Amino acid sequence: MPMLPDSRGRFGSYGGRYVPETLMPALLELEEEYAKAKRDRRFQTDLAYYLKQYVGRPTSLYRADRLTKKLGGAKIYLKREDLCHTGAHKINNAIGQVLLALRMKKGRIIAETGAGQHGVATATAAAMFGLQCEIYMGTEDMQRQALNVFRMRLLGATVTGVDAGSRTLKDAISEAMRDWTTNVRTTHYVLGSVLGAHPYPMMIRDFQAIIGREARKQILSAEKRLPDYLVACVGGGSNSIGLFHAFLRDPKVKMIGVEAGGLGIESGKHAARFSGGKPGVLQGTMTYLLQDENGQINLTHSVSAGLDYAAVGPEHSLYHDQGRIEYTYATDSEALTAFDLLAHEEGIVPALESAHAIAQVVKLAPKLKKSQLIIANLSGRGDKDVQQVARMRGVSL
Ligand SMILES: *Cc1c(COP(=O)(O)O)cnc(C)c1O
Repeated sequence: MPMLPDSRGRFGSYGGRYVPETLMPALLELEEEYAKAKRDRRFQTDLAYYLKQYVGRPTSLYRADRLTKKLGGAKIYLKREDLCHTGAHKINNAIGQVLLALRMKKGRIIAETGAGQHGVATATAAAMFGLQCEIYMGTEDMQRQALNVFRMRLLGATVTGVDAGSRTLKDAISEAMRDWTTNVRTTHYVLGSVLGAHPYPMMIRDFQAIIGREARKQILSAEKRLPDYLVACVGGGSNSIGLFHAFLRDPKVKMIGVEAGGLGIESGKHAARFSGGKPGVLQGTMTYLLQDENGQINLTHSVSAGLDYAAVGPEHSLYHDQGRIEYTYATDSEALTAFDLLAHEEGIVPALESAHAIAQVVKLAPKLKKSQLIIANLSGRGDKDVQQVARMRGVSL
C-alpha cells in the first residue's frame, strides 16, 4: 500500500485542492510548514508533552465486560477518547494545529464548529497558548448547543453566528474560509475534521492517528493479538480514521464506519453519504456528498450535530470504493437506545455521535464468537447532549 495522499493531496481520485487562487498561498505555506514540523524533533517532543500532560493521553482501552455479557457475543473494548480533556478526540488535532500556528508565528486562530466540540477544543488550545481565537458557528447549531457556546466564551473566544444557508456546519466552514482568505498573514484556520483542501485531510489524520497507535499497543498487551473488528462513528471522519489508520495494513482487521442514518435513508433526513450520496466537490475537496441531480448540496439531519454534514473525508471515499472499510449507518432512534444501554450497563454516558458506533456494536457483537474482539471508539462523552436528550424525552430540567 503506497503512502497516501500522493504529492497532490490525492487519495486515488478523491481529495485534492479545489479552492480559489487567493487561498493557494496559505495552503502551500501550511503544507510546507507541516512537512517541516513533522520531521522536527522539537515539534514532536512538544506535541507529545501536551498530549500527555494536558490532554491526558494515553486514553485507556477499557474492557466492557457488562456490555459484552449483555450482547452475548464478541468481547468488546472501548477506546476512551471521552476521557480526553474537553471530552472528545477533537483536542488531539486542535493542540497539533495550534502548535503549528505558533511555529508559523500566527497570533490569531479561527475555526468552525458544528456540535461545538471542535470550537471548545480550539478555544481551549488557543487559551492555553495565549492566542486570539474566533469561532464560526451556524445559528441553528448555536441554539442546539447553547452550553458549548457559553463554554467557548468562558475560554475567551469570540463566537460569531453564521446566519446563512442551513445555518449549520457547512455554512460555518464557508465563513471561516472567507475569513482565512482575508486574514491569512496573521491567522491560522484550525479545521476540525479530515475535510477540506490538502493538506488538511492528511494533517488532521496524522494528529488523530495516535488513537489507533495506542489502541494497537494496548490490545496487543491485553490480548496478545489484534482485534477482529474496529468500529467508529463517521462525521467528517477524524476519530474513525484516527482509530483505523494504524491497522490499515493488517488485512485481517475489519473496519466499520458508522454514519448518521437520521430518520432513515428513505426519509431523506440523514447524513449517510455512502448510502445516499455520490462523488462531487465541496469546500475544497473531491469526495462523497449528499447532493441532488443538479449538484445542489442536500440538507442533512442527525440527532447528533457532530455527524450532521453533507460530505465525508476524501480518504474514506477511497477506502469505501476499495472495500477496505465497510460503511453503514445507525438511525437516531438506534443511537438513542445505545446511549441508554451504555449508560446503564457501563456507567458511561456517551456523546450521541459515539452512540452511533455503539449501536453498530449492538448489531455486530451477538453475531460473533466469544473469542472474537471488537474495539469501538468512544469518541466523546455525553455531557453536552444531556439537555438535548432530556428535551426530546419531554423532561424539563
Ligand atoms: C465531532 C465529533 C465527531 C464527528 O467527527 P469526526 O471527524 O467524524 O470524528 C464524533 N464524535 C464526537 C464526540 C465529536 O465531537
